[in-house]
Amino acid sequence: METGYEGPSYAELARRASDALASALSAGLLGEEDTAAVVYDLDGLDNRFQLICDSFPPGALHAVAVKAAPMAALLSRLVAQGSGLEAASLPELHMALAAGCPPERIVFDSPAKTSAELREAVQLGVHLNADNFQELKRLDGIVTQPFQGPGSLGLRVNPQVGLGSIAATSVAGEYSKFGEPVSKRGEIVDAFVRRPWLTGLHMHVGSQGCGLDLFTRAARILLDLRRDIHAACGHERISRLDIGGGLPVRYTPDQDVPSMGEYAAALRRECPELFAPGLRMFTEFGRWVFASQAFAVSRVEYVKEQPGFCTAVVHLGADMFLRPCYAPETWRHEIVAAGPDGALKSGPNGPWNVAGPLCFSGDFPAKSRALPDLSPGDFLIFLDAGAYTMAMWSRYNSRQMPVVLGLEEGRPRVLKKRETLEQVLAFWK
Ligand SMILES: *Cc1c(COP(=O)(O)O)cnc(C)c1O
Repeated sequence: METGYEGPSYAELARRASDALASALSAGLLGEEDTAAVVYDLDGLDNRFQLICDSFPPGALHAVAVKAAPMAALLSRLVAQGSGLEAASLPELHMALAAGCPPERIVFDSPAKTSAELREAVQLGVHLNADNFQELKRLDGIVTQPFQGPGSLGLRVNPQVGLGSIAATSVAGEYSKFGEPVSKRGEIVDAFVRRPWLTGLHMHVGSQGCGLDLFTRAARILLDLRRDIHAACGHERISRLDIGGGLPVRYTPDQDVPSMGEYAAALRRECPELFAPGLRMFTEFGRWVFASQAFAVSRVEYVKEQPGFCTAVVHLGADMFLRPCYAPETWRHEIVAAGPDGALKSGPNGPWNVAGPLCFSGDFPAKSRALPDLSPGDFLIFLDAGAYTMAMWSRYNSRQMPVVLGLEEGRPRVLKKRETLEQVLAFWK
């Protein structure tokens, strides 16, 4: 079993990104107006998903979180490999269907499902995780009894194990807007006793910033809750335990993150029931699947010098790097520079501010970075940009979403074209 981070070094990542950029340029895939692009390594994505499958029991359902990277070409590729998809909204549910995901491999989570959405999801036969007791009451009027799949219904429980290092993406503190807190144990058990169709428990501890200990303690709490539910029901009721996603990834060379194999090993040790027959494990990884498998690249449009400051003006700012711009102390991408042909640049490493294209003064995807001398026409490559980047695209200033490329055996092709002006105009109509 592998230990620790299982990916290439940053020097190797930079080299691969530069090679990919150079081949995209020489293949003519990046035209004059393609001022930015996101490039996914499709073979790498396949490997990532395979690592999840190899780490957990064969019967587990790995529902990859759509919200992390909602590009249709990526979703359908994962589905073709046997993945499920986790949808956090009705449109995401339909994106999962459109990607060819059979309903029985779709997990529908959302804290604000309407009655119509609940009816549709139940009719389709997806796995639905109710967020709260009121949602269960609505489902009482929708679920026909006896309920017989192909989907299933579960309840999201906040295991209240505490926050990770990033409060904004931690959801298992004493208080959370998600799920019912495990402190309402009696009510939760009662909700299960009264509903024979309720057969799943769901948790999601947080995203990035959470250690293995938090995940395994949370799963332990859910398994103990399951035991109490079984005792109260007088039979084995919970056949599905959804451990959510959230496994952190590396964004900087000094970050130490666990591998998927280590996560699975820790669960096997602390929560052996998850690996025993009679209980199907669901996972909902997003960031871990996508983040390291793409880089974003922008052309340097202008370079500005002012005493004490060098600024490179690029075409990706808070429209794509929302979190790095608004919470730079928490979110950061490694950046390397390439020349107009894609070849990596080296040289004096003065501090550079990287300024985005948007009209507001906080639009800096990076500040004070050690980068080589830059000129207009160079490229800046943002590494580990595969998750929560395009996904968080902001319409502020109405710039066009960049082209998305995919690499297969080193060869690039277009996965999603640059947004057209017409599409932008249509959006606001
Ligand atoms: C966001 C989310 C995920 C995915 O989280 P990652 O950190 O991307 O793995 C999974 N499940 C739920 C319920 C989520 O909200």
